[in-house]
Amino acid sequence: MSSRMSRRDVFKLAGLGALSMALGEKAGGQDVGAVKAAAPYTLPELPYAYGALAPGIEERVLRVHHDKHHAGYVNGLNTALEKLEKARAAGDMGGIKALSRDVAFNGSGHVLHSLYWQSMTPGGSGEPKGELRKALDRDFGSFAAFTTQFLAATKDVEGSGWGILAWEPIGRRLLVLQAEKHQNLTVWGAVPLMVSDVWEHAYYVQYENRRADYVDAFFKLIDWSATASRFEKAAG
Ligand code: MN
Repeated sequence: MSSRMSRRDVFKLAGLGALSMALGEKAGGQDVGAVKAAAPYTLPELPYAYGALAPGIEERVLRVHHDKHHAGYVNGLNTALEKLEKARAAGDMGGIKALSRDVAFNGSGHVLHSLYWQSMTPGGSGEPKGELRKALDRDFGSFAAFTTQFLAATKDVEGSGWGILAWEPIGRRLLVLQAEKHQNLTVWGAVPLMVSDVWEHAYYVQYENRRADYVDAFFKLIDWSATASRFEKAAG
């Protein structure tokens, strides 16, 4: 890397600025190498009231999902990082496989949940417009064809996972991905722009085994305006 390239440029190059902004953090942040250790991860607040997505997603679902499940991933990530710090201090890498897995699982869980809350808006937002709409038309043929693929991919995730609309910065194209658990089946470097949680905890108490009905309800709640600004930051 050029010594003239700032850390912010590196983040921009990797398309990560949009994601870190989506998570409410400063894009490009402060310099690494400061005196203090990085702060622990924290649970972001929901960007709307717990009951604001009803009837598509009821308050009781969001309350447990955000306060218990998402909080669990934040705590799991911080715990794994603390254990790694101790392991380095002790020079004991005996637990490295489990700890590396814990970072990937809980870290991906935290990233995806942070984005999931911001993928929805009370009442939904109709259809995407502007540059995002053009890119969806280009990369999937039409918004209708994207919708068909996204719904099919999301409804058909095997086990617990996610449906994801992502920007892939090397080929400069949009992709629909499935994730199993939180961390499996990704394309490295792809920036998630809009994500749908299809773990049973996201819908079972409201929809029981009718995942497809939940995904259809989720789709009506998508915040296309926020998704478009994440796209423009990632692709710009
Ligand atoms: Mn979840």
